[in-house]
Amino acid sequence: MLAENLKKVEENIEKACRRAGRKREEVTLIAVSKTKPISMLSEIYDCGIRDFGENKVQEICEKRDFLPSDIRWHMIGHLQRNKVKYIIKDTALIHSVDSYRLAEEINIQAKKIRRIVPILIEVNIAEESSKFGIAANETLQLAVEISRLDNLRIQGLMTIAPYTENPEENRPYFEKIRELSVDIKQENIDNVSMDVLSMGMTGDYMTAIEEGATIVRVGTGIFGARNYT
Ligand SMILES: *Cc1c(COP(=O)(O)O)cnc(C)c1O
Repeated sequence: MLAENLKKVEENIEKACRRAGRKREEVTLIAVSKTKPISMLSEIYDCGIRDFGENKVQEICEKRDFLPSDIRWHMIGHLQRNKVKYIIKDTALIHSVDSYRLAEEINIQAKKIRRIVPILIEVNIAEESSKFGIAANETLQLAVEISRLDNLRIQGLMTIAPYTENPEENRPYFEKIRELSVDIKQENIDNVSMDVLSMGMTGDYMTAIEEGATIVRVGTGIFGARNYT
């Protein structure tokens, strides 16, 4: 059943790539497995998925020991500074850096284990008060500050667009964040590449791909609805 879901998502990704004149290889699908049991992650792993996204440090720590070591774990949720040390070794990419203080702590922990850690800056593109992320007009300044931290590499931007039934409503936000990433890239800051745009979830990943997403984060579309009770 999960294989069927995944197949549908794959088809949609291919369609969106074709519409946008992009290559399928330009887009990485992250299976967002938060709240889901290890058995379901295994099932999707067996279908060939190697990128998994979680929004809680504890959940990454609980799951990773029971799953193959070639999985690339993505931290996509709000990250508290005192928990950075638990995931510093095993995360492929931290998507949710939205303050200098957090970046500083990641840098300290990265130094301890002599690792260069790739990160994204999370932008609150729609300026929703309920969401984490830095404001669009403060993003360049933050990127400049973080770029001076030796053990971090800023690879791009991440955003969580507003929840909507109609993905077209989010198209302007996706456009806006792509423009922001182009602007920052043009500054040619050391240690800042801006090649990654992590945007698009179950409700709007096709639109996000059309607007330049290089990573889409799909949970419900693959694993089904989450049950938080
Ligand atoms: C939960 C989550 C997703 C996946 O959401 P779906 O709508 O289930 O696809 C993507 N990104 C982040 C940051 C999330 O927390």
